Amino acid sequence: MENLTRREFLKKGSLAGLAGAAGFLTGADCAAAEQLPAQMGQAMRIPRRQGRGTEPLNPKFPNFGGFVTLLADLHQHTTFSDGDLWPAARVEEAKREGLDVVCLSDHIEVRPFKADIANLDLGRGYEVALPRAKASDILLIPGLEITRSEPYAKHLNALFLKDFNALVTERFEDAVRAAARQDAFIFWNHPAWGQKEPKATWYPQMDKFLEEGILHGFEVVNGFEGDARDYQPDVIEWCQKHRVTMLGNSDAHKATAYLTDWSAGEHRPMTLIFARERTLEGVREALFAGRTAIYYYLPGERDLLIGDEKWLLPIFNRSFNCMPKRPGIGLNEVVFQNDLPFALEFKVLSASGIKVPEKLLLPHGSSTLTLEVVSGSVRVEAEVLNFHIGKNQRMVVEVSL
Ligand SMILES: [Zn+2]
Ligand SMILES: [Zn+2]
Repeated sequence: MENLTRREFLKKGSLAGLAGAAGFLTGADCAAAEQLPAQMGQAMRIPRRQGRGTEPLNPKFPNFGGFVTLLADLHQHTTFSDGDLWPAARVEEAKREGLDVVCLSDHIEVRPFKADIANLDLGRGYEVALPRAKASDILLIPGLEITRSEPYAKHLNALFLKDFNALVTERFEDAVRAAARQDAFIFWNHPAWGQKEPKATWYPQMDKFLEEGILHGFEVVNGFEGDARDYQPDVIEWCQKHRVTMLGNSDAHKATAYLTDWSAGEHRPMTLIFARERTLEGVREALFAGRTAIYYYLPGERDLLIGDEKWLLPIFNRSFNCMPKRPGIGLNEVVFQNDLPFALEFKVLSASGIKVPEKLLLPHGSSTLTLEVVSGSVRVEAEVLNFHIGKNQRMVVEVSL
């Protein structure tokens, strides 16, 4: 056991520094957490979502392994297809919500405002948004959504396009190949949408495109209006089996402010991209290399991070820390530091040297629990219920004090 005074603990590392600056043990999170000891022995309940008034959450995730963690929404619509907003307004929204990377992937085939827009060039939405993106320090990816409907919903996003209009083709397959010829990053959107059952459905075209190397990912998460189709754990398995990229995007048509209750801590789904540099080329390289995870608010339940353990474990390790206040055994105050933008939920699998409740809910920021330490060597093994590393698989972590 590492014995540190509170001051030493606070000095240790940047997380502690942040806690000190924010007023350690005085925030609302801590006030809630300090009521916990009275509930020992039963599942602990504290407010898991941190209300932030009418402002978006603006979440932050740590960098690791030489990668910078970027927040992206790679699937949205503007008035250049069937969205409610002008492209520049979409960029402003994204900036406000803390995003780094945006693709305004308007439908090629669905353009209800055609008669209202004089310039029908498919790249016009991108051109209109670009100056605002540059002014807002947003990386804007040129892209479109190929939107066909026979005999099932075939919607694919093609990113990093050079010639938008080359995707206007008679046949669906030809549009995908026209994008592939431009070295586009191509992913299959919302594989559960438009299906008879509300679940992701596999089609032979997916095998064909994967074999040809022109399909590079799937949306595990699409949309955020609480539809049962929004999050498809089956698709995590598809991505892992075929070694392609996992994506989670809003597919926003309306303004996100109308779709999101900021005060409840809600946010649009985002793709976390682990890039070597914060540039479009850096984003492109990371997407093709499969270095992504998904940040998703499961309505009415909890915030999730979804992705391979090799990305989620370093994020956890850099965001979470705990330390008893005093050395020795007996009743002790354990200080938890959670720098993720949401409350962490643990299901304790085994614990030695300490009495811990079966379920632990630790809010964003620092919190303190009074726990009974029964030996000098403490080890806790727990499932992190917010971290989905496979279909029906939660990440297991080991914590030693
Ligand atoms: Zn679609
Ligand atoms: Zn769409």
